[in-house]
Amino acid sequence: MIKPDAVASGHTGRILAMIHESGFKVAGLKQRRISLEEAQAFYAVHKARPFYTSLVRFMSEGPTVVLVLEREDAIARWRVLMGATNPANAEEGTIRKRFAESIERNAVHGSDAPETAAQEIPFFFSQAELL
Ligand code: ADP
Ligand code: MG
Repeated sequence: MIKPDAVASGHTGRILAMIHESGFKVAGLKQRRISLEEAQAFYAVHKARPFYTSLVRFMSEGPTVVLVLEREDAIARWRVLMGATNPANAEEGTIRKRFAESIERNAVHGSDAPETAAQEIPFFFSQAELL
């Protein structure tokens, strides 16, 4: 997912270019605003964290671009391309190093395991929207 900070700042095209250049196949893609209720459900796992209220407000403040990416070892490789959660710790050449504004407004989201992806993909995509 390209988060509202990066979409609003006009970084969608540059992030998509990094995705293509890194060898991912785009199986699904759309720009979509997430409601507050959807953001709360999407990030329910973080409900107990002090940043939860602020995070779900941020994620629903404007459009996001949601994507389904495919390649071998896609989850681990996407996390490498994203970079560390806190952009202060992100490696050169990562999306968060280039585009993240802060630990919260950090440009992109990624599923952290196959089981998470299996929940997150149908949250946004029907079968017909996927290649
Ligand atoms: P990641 O997105 O790298 O998997 P987490 O799953 O730990 O990171 O956190 C989910 C999201 O919550 C982060 O991408 C970020 O937007 C926000 N977040 C995480 N930690 C903090 C924090 N300490 N303060 C504010 N926001 C945070
Ligand atoms: Mg996470």
